[in-house]
Amino acid sequence: MELSSPEPLLRLGAFLICLALLAAAEAAAPRRRPAIGRRPRWAGNFGLVVVDTALVRALPFLSAVAVAGLAETRGWGLLQAVGPLPAWVAIAASIVLLDLAIYLQHVLFHALPALWRLHRVHHTDLDLDVTTGVRFHPVEILLSAGIRVGVVGILGAPIAGVIAFEILLNAGSLFSHANLRLPERADRLLRMVIVTPDMHRVHHSIDGAERDRNFGFTLSWWDGLFGTYHAQPRQGHDDMELGVAGFAGRDALGLGHLLIQPLLRERATVCGTAPHATLTGGRHGGDGARSRT
Ligand SMILES: [Zn+2]
Ligand SMILES: [Zn+2]
Repeated sequence: MELSSPEPLLRLGAFLICLALLAAAEAAAPRRRPAIGRRPRWAGNFGLVVVDTALVRALPFLSAVAVAGLAETRGWGLLQAVGPLPAWVAIAASIVLLDLAIYLQHVLFHALPALWRLHRVHHTDLDLDVTTGVRFHPVEILLSAGIRVGVVGILGAPIAGVIAFEILLNAGSLFSHANLRLPERADRLLRMVIVTPDMHRVHHSIDGAERDRNFGFTLSWWDGLFGTYHAQPRQGHDDMELGVAGFAGRDALGLGHLLIQPLLRERATVCGTAPHATLTGGRHGGDGARSRT
């Protein structure tokens, strides 16, 4: 466990540096004109980060680093079973395979209605910027941490590989959600390896067909490999609408509303009436959000 002690500080430092750099870059080269702006959204988004971090830290059995430590000392996992691998190979393999697991998990959170209700909180941000990259419901964060613990245990991923992956996942999520205009050529080159803001923005389209594309978080390869890649939004990056139908109100931006949002379902637009969310325990709740447009 001693080896894991620098992890929280490393992750916090990397998070703050990436956040500051990307927020500055967004101000210098924004991709889209914000519909809502930072102030009303950031309170809810940062509120979720605080709740999420406190919860995960309060539940040490959800620490992937601790499980990696156990796997290392007890020889658990596939990477240990295939023989002693050079450290860099084990670290690189862990990063790639954990990223694949996150891709598959993301597909699952879109496919199953109950999980979609949790993940929908991430998708209801009305603008995309660096803070959307950490806007996740606490229950999704807990489930995700549990899945990661299982995958790390099965792989027998080394501690250094898990820490590197967690930092890359966090930095990649901040980057891919940034409201950042990259030169076209840079975007094209980067997409060959990592998910760029333009690539991930397609995934935040209000159009359900586009939303079920570009599930990758850090590495861009999985969408091409599994046939879920979609290069550009049909309406273009300036005109495309972001979010989820039924969750367009400013009153839906606060932390309290975000926390109860999985209990809400939206009603479809009727004769030009603005759609809105309603409280429900019905089994079909949230299905409207999954409908393809
Ligand atoms: Zn998603
Ligand atoms: Zn996203």
